[in-house]
Amino acid sequence: MKALVKKEASKGLWLEDVPEPKTGINDVLIKVLRTAICGTDMHIYNWDAWAQKTIPVPMVVGHEFVGEIVDVGANVVDFRPGQIVSGEGHVVCGRCRNCMAGRRHLCARTSGIGVDRSGAFAEYVALPMSNVWEHSPGIDLDVAALFDPFGNAVHTALQFDLLGEDVLITGAGPIGAMAAAVCRHAGARHVVITDVIDQRLALAATLGATRTVNVTRETLAEVQQSLGMHEGFDVGLEMSGNPQAFRDLLASMCHGGKVAMLGIPSENTAIDWNTVIFNMLTLKGIYGREMYETWYKMSVMIESGLDISPVITHRMNFRDFQQGFDVMNAGEASKVVLNWEE
Ligand code: NAD
Ligand code: ZN
Repeated sequence: MKALVKKEASKGLWLEDVPEPKTGINDVLIKVLRTAICGTDMHIYNWDAWAQKTIPVPMVVGHEFVGEIVDVGANVVDFRPGQIVSGEGHVVCGRCRNCMAGRRHLCARTSGIGVDRSGAFAEYVALPMSNVWEHSPGIDLDVAALFDPFGNAVHTALQFDLLGEDVLITGAGPIGAMAAAVCRHAGARHVVITDVIDQRLALAATLGATRTVNVTRETLAEVQQSLGMHEGFDVGLEMSGNPQAFRDLLASMCHGGKVAMLGIPSENTAIDWNTVIFNMLTLKGIYGREMYETWYKMSVMIESGLDISPVITHRMNFRDFQQGFDVMNAGEASKVVLNWEE
């Protein structure tokens, strides 16, 4: 089968012929229909310091996908060929304390598809049945391919009550933009989103942000004043990984404000701890998606009219993958969807 492979320890990806994945008795074999390119894939493509210490080569990369089941192992009774599914990319151990308690997203021994086990940028991918999510009938395949990053947005946004609340999102990348859509859908009042790139802010507004802030031109204090907000934001979602954005967010929260942190800072970040303490802020780190409450919420929000499709800025055939990685690297794209149907 064709697959995008990190063939050697240097920049780039290679479209190669590789053997089809082997399926065990508990596995499901999926014919991949669409995939989407993630920031993680860009780290791997660009072969940065994180990728160099994390990714064994050769490795079939990719984890955002939707496909059709073509075969199931002997133990699999809940799935059958023909079903349209995505995969939870975090494969958990099943035996640690958290897994045994049903808190699988807190597993201490998670492995990741396309990172430390064979990934989804391929014609076929195999997954344990416990990692398979069946989509609602009729779902748009391009949207279904986004359930992994959409899940990051949903998992983060739904940490705290949103109804009637004022929300600040720092970072209008694809995940921040989708989180803005979720916050509006869940009944927030103001959904303010920051970035340093106007194009990204415009996209976030299309998805549902009520006010966009380019922090190179405006301060959050001015924006709050113009909105008549005197006590700060109730909920903060850090989705940039940028230290200054995080500091700005903490300074903009109300007393008792709640902050969910998804963005991964590339360096050690100093913050004003006095703000956290005296303003009695709650800070919570977020990783991945909840298995499978986040997936359930995603499915029903899409069914009840939430539209995240504007976040897809580029669609192309998998053979044109180079163009997809180029537009991602140029900062022109939000989500790029690759079509694996011939
Ligand atoms: P992205 O890099 O596309 O988006 C980040 C955005 O932040 C960019 O648009 C950038 O211009 C903006 N930004 C930079 N400096 C800023 C500043 N000072 N103020 C406001 N915005 C600023 O990333 P993404 O794919 O949307 O993901 C969002 C973040 O979440 C990333 O840090 C990513 O690494 C992280 N992430 C975490 C998990 C997890 O499980 N914790 C999963 C996926 C992604
Ligand atoms: Zn575990």
